[in-house]
Amino acid sequence: MAYTLEVKTCRRVEFIDITHLVRDLIEKKGLKNGVCFIYIPHTTAGVTINENADPSVVADIRDALERMVPEGAGYRHAEGNAPAHVKASLVGSSASVPVENGRLVLGTWQGIYFCEFDGPRRRSVIVAVV
Ligand code: ZN
Repeated sequence: MAYTLEVKTCRRVEFIDITHLVRDLIEKKGLKNGVCFIYIPHTTAGVTINENADPSVVADIRDALERMVPEGAGYRHAEGNAPAHVKASLVGSSASVPVENGRLVLGTWQGIYFCEFDGPRRRSVIVAVV
């Protein structure tokens, strides 16, 4: 059984902490044990797990991706959003977190981030506990 969460992004490139959304869904649906699979069904957005204590960390990741994949670097894709596609592939389109007794087993400093690379848009996040 898979569920869809809606995420509205406000900027072109944006990292949004969705940990609480995933946690609330697991609680609301009474999902107890297994692996929580988080999947992004988009080609210009992704998901990553990283530090949510110091917001500078995701800002650094975002800026590092910008330096690695700059705008206007001679891309072929005619739509004009090639950097967003490349960054989405670099961070990946899925993440997995164990679930134990209805609890996401994340490290103390870890959060789940939706990564927007071609916003603002309305986006979907697919969540399943298998
Ligand atoms: Zn495109």
